[in-house]
Amino acid sequence: MSGAPPLQHRARKRFGQNFLHDPRVIQRIVEAIDPRPGQTIIEIGPGQAALTRRLVQRAGHVTAIEIDRDLAAWLREEFTPEQLTLIEADALRLDWSTVAADPVRVVGNLPYNISSPLLFRLMEYAERVTDQHFMLQKEVVDRMVAPPGSRTYGRLSVMLQVRYRMTKLFDVPRGAFNPPPKVTSSIVRMVPRAAAELPEMDFATFGRVVAAAFNQRRKILRNALGEVAGATAFAAAGVDPMARAETLAVDDYVRLTRAVAAETNAA
Ligand code: SAM
Repeated sequence: MSGAPPLQHRARKRFGQNFLHDPRVIQRIVEAIDPRPGQTIIEIGPGQAALTRRLVQRAGHVTAIEIDRDLAAWLREEFTPEQLTLIEADALRLDWSTVAADPVRVVGNLPYNISSPLLFRLMEYAERVTDQHFMLQKEVVDRMVAPPGSRTYGRLSVMLQVRYRMTKLFDVPRGAFNPPPKVTSSIVRMVPRAAAELPEMDFATFGRVVAAAFNQRRKILRNALGEVAGATAFAAAGVDPMARAETLAVDDYVRLTRAVAAETNAA
């Protein structure tokens, strides 16, 4: 770390910049991640290096993806190439296969405006990921880990829960950031399920079934899934067509997906 002068940077709203400044919170997050020397750590949005500095101290090296040109230039000054590989890019457009070649650990205090698309993008690389630790809006984390039947259970919950074991770790108050965001944040741990634990099914069909079910979540499933699943699929899956999307467990969606595929093949 170069000892370069402190950064004079005005937080850019369009990049969702809320920088962590509370040392106890930063410490707690890094303790939860527990980076070890030799691990491949990828940080999304290092910003002013609040987490990066500690991650480098503990792991020796970090690969970071930063969209902001000024911050990227500053980070290159602040760290040596042995400490930090800086990729100046949009994490949403990045070809992740170029950075996720090893088993990687992904971390980030994510910009709120890109959190859902980024979670879906990273799902494509879940096989190469050991774990992910993210700071997100509390409301988003609550949706991710929500159980069936709860008010916040939805498409995000089902799509992520089928792929990851997820644990909400703790909340982070607004005051830990500069500038403070409008809402409370939370830290979530996501561990991809092993191949043997993943259900055998067509994941694209699963995505279609879940999207259709929750698109019209107030409707009964028979109506919401009218275009996707017929009466035989409901019967074969043992799913009540009069039920509503939020009452079905992830396993129910898996069975429904298999039944939809069988129904399509038989047609
Ligand atoms: N990690 C720092 C911290 O905890 O203080 C900064 C967190 S700030 C909420 C989000 C960071 O992500 C900013 O540095 C921002 O410039 C960067 N960022 C925003 N959109 C991005 C994108 N699409 N790809 C990569 N980085 C992005």
